[in-house]
Amino acid sequence: MTVTELVSYEDALASYDPVMGLEVHVELGTKTKMFCGCSTELKQDANSQTCPTCLGLPGSLPVVNAIGVESAIKIGLALNCEIAEWCRFARKNYFYPDMPKNFQTSQYDEPIAFNGYLDVQLEDGEIFRVEIERAHMEEDTGKSLHVGGATGRIHGASHSLLDYNRAGIPLIEIVTKPIEGAGTRAPEVAKAYVAELRELIKALGVSEARMEQGQMRCDVNLSLRPHGRAEFGTRSETKNVNSLRSVERAARFEIQRHAAVLNSGGTIVQETRHFHEEDGSTTAGRIKDNAEDYRYFPEPDLVPVAPSREWVEELRRGLPELPRVRRNRLREEWGVSEHDMQSILNAGAIDPIVATIEAGADAASARKWWMGELARNANESGRDLASLPITPEQVARVTVLVKEGSLNDKLARQVIEGVLAGEGGPDDVVEKRGLKVVSDEGALGTAVDEAIAANAGIADKIRSGKVAAAGALVGAVMKATRGQADAARVRELILEKLGVTEG
Ligand code: ADP
Ligand code: MG
Ligand code: ZN
Repeated sequence: MTVTELVSYEDALASYDPVMGLEVHVELGTKTKMFCGCSTELKQDANSQTCPTCLGLPGSLPVVNAIGVESAIKIGLALNCEIAEWCRFARKNYFYPDMPKNFQTSQYDEPIAFNGYLDVQLEDGEIFRVEIERAHMEEDTGKSLHVGGATGRIHGASHSLLDYNRAGIPLIEIVTKPIEGAGTRAPEVAKAYVAELRELIKALGVSEARMEQGQMRCDVNLSLRPHGRAEFGTRSETKNVNSLRSVERAARFEIQRHAAVLNSGGTIVQETRHFHEEDGSTTAGRIKDNAEDYRYFPEPDLVPVAPSREWVEELRRGLPELPRVRRNRLREEWGVSEHDMQSILNAGAIDPIVATIEAGADAASARKWWMGELARNANESGRDLASLPITPEQVARVTVLVKEGSLNDKLARQVIEGVLAGEGGPDDVVEKRGLKVVSDEGALGTAVDEAIAANAGIADKIRSGKVAAAGALVGAVMKATRGQADAARVRELILEKLGVTEG
């Protein structure tokens, strides 16, 4: 099926209701793997972070990572789930070269957390409740690298290399109940849910949840049913979607594709699908029916997990303020609109702004620099705000220098540029580049006198009452002082010297 055969989004929604199910995998930020003591540090030499357990060698025995369990409980609690009093791991049996044990240690019918919900805020402020089926613990697989072909895919490759450094890294899989009733907003709900979940995971401190690095990935299940019908249609499952925008696009595309198939009298095949970033389309993966037999059975080598109620309650008490609640509180404190807050969130600027305010800046200035100069710089250099080489303390210092009048905005921009270029902190850059507002009245007076003398015609106009012409003289003084004068003060001086009062 090609893109041109799709039904328009509006037409699809005119006949059908979408039902979605989102499965999100989060890689935990634990120091060691889920069932062995190997390091989880990325980008190390292939297979350097492996041991008999994560390589699945005979006779090796797994041990559960306590921080992994704690993180799973925190996620479950933050998602308003019940926490199992007793649960087990299960073996999900299948063969794939990136999984040397020939089974994945996962959880099946006894997940650690179940029956919860996450309220997500849509762009117009409306709250949509997404119900959570379960959150369970499992482990990641290794990575295969297909060599010798043009595409990096297995087809056409001459051989494959396997790196088991990732095998055994803890994952939490969070599965929603079927999401119904979102109508035309289904793709928006999908995106908002993953975005909110990501914020939540970050706030809990259990993972950095960087989607672009695969630390968080989403499978988008989608089906359509004609308006008024109760039974669900057959679903497709678009795998490993790894950005918020892609989650939205994948859902949208599948709605249009399903509608096209159904309208033409065809049937939807229950299958996995691959998402393509380039054009937002999906293509068929493998057929997947519900009877897939993984021969799940309880893991005999691991003890059951039975978190005491005291521990669970202690973790509940330690939960941070939920991101949505915090956002609303900050929005009111800062006095910004829903829309502006959304932009701040999208830019990843909430934490930098909060830290800058804590370091002494006022809210408006902190917002202005992070959402202006710094956001632009981050954009141009393809980085996120948090990884720019400037600290919130340094930004706060710049705002203080502006406030006390030693810098104007133009100079402040140069200071920030200097800090970003590695020239030191704000005070170092001011010193080295000689960037200080000329506020010495004597020096300013001379510069103003010179500008008046050099622009006699303009000066006359001003004397005769055309105060608006003062702008040109201000410009001349600013140029002569390389932008380091306080423009408002210059204007005052000019009018004073020419004997005019603004009126
Ligand atoms: P699988 O192991 O096949 O991925 P799961 O039960 O783990 O199955 O996940 C399926 C996801 O899809 C869940 O989020 C579920 O709520 C959702 N889902 C189930 N049936 C449908 C359907 N007909 N249409 C859309 N989503 C569905
Ligand atoms: Mg699935
Ligand atoms: Zn190991």
